[in-house]
Amino acid sequence: MRIRVGHLYPAYLNIYADRGNIAVFDRRAALRGHELVVVSIDLGDELEPGAHDLLYVGGGQDREQALIAPDLAGKAHAVRAAVDDGVAVLAVCGGYQLLGRGYRGRDGSFMPGAGLFPHETVAGETRMIGDVLLRCELDPGVRRPLAGFENHAGRTLLDPGAHPLGRVVHGFGNDGSSGFEGCVVGNALGTYLHGPLLPRNPWLADWLLERALAHAAGGRAVRLDPLPDELEAEAFRIAAGRARARGGRR
Ligand code: GLN
Repeated sequence: MRIRVGHLYPAYLNIYADRGNIAVFDRRAALRGHELVVVSIDLGDELEPGAHDLLYVGGGQDREQALIAPDLAGKAHAVRAAVDDGVAVLAVCGGYQLLGRGYRGRDGSFMPGAGLFPHETVAGETRMIGDVLLRCELDPGVRRPLAGFENHAGRTLLDPGAHPLGRVVHGFGNDGSSGFEGCVVGNALGTYLHGPLLPRNPWLADWLLERALAHAAGGRAVRLDPLPDELEAEAFRIAAGRARARGGRR
């Protein structure tokens, strides 16, 4: 099958080589006989209804975020309609912040967001930096760990009742105190974890790919065969070990 990926603002939001996540989608899809077709969605481009099975937005500094925020807010309706339709989304750090209601920067200015995720972000005085380990339960009863790296000044406060991507085992997470990291709405995931995130967490890549494939198949569930993932398991082990060495949530 063909998976149509819309990559939002690749020229602006690609801190820590976040676009490496797309390479993981591409390779893991190809190994199962599926083709990934990636198109850029840039400033001024329309987000065409029904044109994508997966949307991706990376991280960026406040300066880059300010450049794309009004354009993204103008796509708010289209982004939310896509998620209502079952499109899978992965949004990292700066992109995650701007898919919420908005981000208040250090200078007090407010960047409007797309309002997909039920949260707001305010820049704090210190940055929250380091390796992170999470415990996720995206599918009820199935607990899986996620390892990554965070570097953000923004504190993201989830609305009451919002679903986090995971619970912080080690690291700061959304705001350094709630114990929550990321947010989930339908098949849309937002997270502070950079890295890129997916090479060391292949289960998450497949979770998103399966949902994108289901969207491409008109709603029919598609299962991906497991891959050996030996190097991926080793990468996860090392990343999780670094997070554990931080010695608890902080
Ligand atoms: N500018 C945002 C913050 O520091 C996002 C940074 C990022 O994407 N790494 O909170």
